[in-house]
Amino acid sequence: MREQRPSFRSSRVVARLFLLLWGLFVLTTSFTFSNRGDGIAFASAAAKTNAAATSSEKDPDGTVAFATTFGKNASKNALFDAILSSVKRSSSEKEFETNLKLLRRRLHERPELMWTETETSALIKKELDALSISYEDAAKPGILATIALDGDMDVSKKSSKNKIAVLLRADMDALPVTEETEFEFKSKNEGKMHACGHDGHVTMLLGAAKLIKGILESGKEIIPEEVRKGKVVYLLFQPAEEGGAGAKKMLESKTMRNMKLKPSTSFALHNWPYVETPSGSFGTRGGTIMAGAGTFEITVTGKGGHAAVPHKNIDAVVCGSKIVTDVQTIVSRKASALDSVVITISTFHAGTVSNVMPDEAKLTGTLRSLQPETFRWAIDELSRVAKAVGIANGCEVEVSFASREVYPPTVNDAKAAEFAKRVAREIFGKEEGKVLDVDPVMPAEDFSFFANEYPSVMNWIGSYNEAIGAVHPLHSAKYTLDESILKNGAAAHAGYALGFLAMNSTQF
Ligand SMILES: [Zn+2]
Ligand SMILES: [Zn+2]
Repeated sequence: MREQRPSFRSSRVVARLFLLLWGLFVLTTSFTFSNRGDGIAFASAAAKTNAAATSSEKDPDGTVAFATTFGKNASKNALFDAILSSVKRSSSEKEFETNLKLLRRRLHERPELMWTETETSALIKKELDALSISYEDAAKPGILATIALDGDMDVSKKSSKNKIAVLLRADMDALPVTEETEFEFKSKNEGKMHACGHDGHVTMLLGAAKLIKGILESGKEIIPEEVRKGKVVYLLFQPAEEGGAGAKKMLESKTMRNMKLKPSTSFALHNWPYVETPSGSFGTRGGTIMAGAGTFEITVTGKGGHAAVPHKNIDAVVCGSKIVTDVQTIVSRKASALDSVVITISTFHAGTVSNVMPDEAKLTGTLRSLQPETFRWAIDELSRVAKAVGIANGCEVEVSFASREVYPPTVNDAKAAEFAKRVAREIFGKEEGKVLDVDPVMPAEDFSFFANEYPSVMNWIGSYNEAIGAVHPLHSAKYTLDESILKNGAAAHAGYALGFLAMNSTQF
């Protein structure tokens, strides 16, 4: 007991001392933080007046060395601002906009279906040649073009410290749709139409190539030499998005497997002609933006015979019908209510005449989910349930996802999405309604394969415009692309790539 008293007293002393020290710490840190705030504001304001001139100190390796962390951020932010305003300025030139429209119309007239985009590919190569941009075939007719900011195309020789690459992607295939518009430049290829606006996507990426080359050739004022060193922009023109998994095939191609410098991030735009994203707006989100999708085929084999004696046969129609209803319980009873799963049986074919029980029933459908894990689980569960129903009814059941490639959900990297929005605010405007946080959607995109490979971001470029009749949904025979979005799309691509490279880091 006696010994405890002084110990109690001393612990109170310790507690007071601790409180005193804590108070001092809080005072000091709040002073430091407020100081830091002023420091950034001051540095970036100063840097803004002198664009990139602040990034002048070099270390022996040739990389930019900055005096302080604050100075480094301020310089990077100033460089970002200078690049984005230059991109915006160049994209606003009338001639640039006119050329984009002409190019888009040329592509629109000649739509080609997946894996046959040869004329499109040739036109892209011609445009790249005109801009002196080198390229390679990747999953033909796919193209991987490369712009080395320092002009040195030997990527392997670049100092590892400086090597950073960004990938910009455009898809280029059309759909088997007969165009029902009255435009002079409507499809000249019977039964084929750019009804998803991929002609616009190609145009925007070629526009970005022109903007990037223009900035690089305009002198070293905007992007200084030390920032250009080792930096690469890949322009990827992808075939077969509409069900052919062109993205996956490109990643598997020799050209992309042998890439000496892997992209640190990739970026794509899809025009979005829906009322919530009017022309002039931009939308994206971190996390899943598009669902995963799988097309399946179920074959139910029973034993055919006279329709009047079912006990002598095995009824594939009844078994198939039970599969239709039982797979619905995967969504309603097995998946969490917080997850999203769609399973739709879209076709059911069996039999030819009313008095004959058929041997076989064939069902096809689509399975979709926003969560990668739920998506994989639902694919397995669909097979399990269908086969179990087959066993219970004496039928053989085969489930196949092979007729069309399965597209996983497109999951945007949270930091890449934030960066894309930062870029978009400079291009589309800072006012309310210009840069939007959007909800995920159930259509799928094979950009998901790139997103699984690199931290990526898929974005909507708003293209709904009642004034010009751009109100029809994607894939509609009346679909109309608002061409006024092309210049901003080109600027967003160029701004994302150059803005990211200006940060001089492989991470956001
Ligand atoms: Zn489409
Ligand atoms: Zn599309």
